[in-house]
Amino acid sequence: NTFAEIDLGEALNENIRRCKYVRPTPVQRNAIPISLAGRDLMACAQTGSGKTAAFCFPIISGIIRGQPIQRPPRGVRTVYPLALVLSPTRELSIQIHEEAKKFSYQTGVRVVVAYGGAPINQQLRDLERGVDILVATPGRLVDLLERARVSLQMIRYLALDEADRMLDMGFEPQIRKIVEQMDMPPPGVRQTMLFSATFPREIQRLASDFLSNYIFLAV
Ligand code: AMP
Repeated sequence: NTFAEIDLGEALNENIRRCKYVRPTPVQRNAIPISLAGRDLMACAQTGSGKTAAFCFPIISGIIRGQPIQRPPRGVRTVYPLALVLSPTRELSIQIHEEAKKFSYQTGVRVVVAYGGAPINQQLRDLERGVDILVATPGRLVDLLERARVSLQMIRYLALDEADRMLDMGFEPQIRKIVEQMDMPPPGVRQTMLFSATFPREIQRLASDFLSNYIFLAV
């Protein structure tokens, strides 16, 4: 019933201690083992439930344990993140980025954030320095994909945060366009986590389109 008992790896466990997290919240206690086991997940989670760590920990742990991270050669401007976190707003994206950076401290895992309503140039420079986990709002990410500055062909983890809010904000076409690019060959093994506070029909449809053989967690 403590994080020390969950096998997330020494580096991540050290960062969790540094953040002074001792016990997982209910959503973390249930979601993290499912994700570590490689299953897709749709989870009911409100703001403040600890959902950020619930999707960040398996992603960071999986990247650290996965293949050695390959950096593109210098001069290649397209970057290939291994994980994508989609979030509805600039504020939430910044918040996720801040937390993910703390969890990734000294692990070599690089986290970059890209959101709309701000100049793209700094974000492009951040991406050029390398990115393993990209936290983005859907509109800005579509822009980056159209500029061929980001490729989603290496994505192994996809987290959709506050999916119901993203749909309320009209992001469904962008989200579909983004996920389509992950399904282009070569077929990767993508693990998907969808977090939402509510489950209207549209969310259930997203889940059946994007998740495979998933577990529905209502805590
Ligand atoms: P979230 O729902 O992800 O926005 O998290 C809400 C707040 O709870 C954030 O300030 C987190 O840093 C904090 N938090 C998340 N999980 C834990 C935990 N297991 N123990 C203590 N604080 C936590």
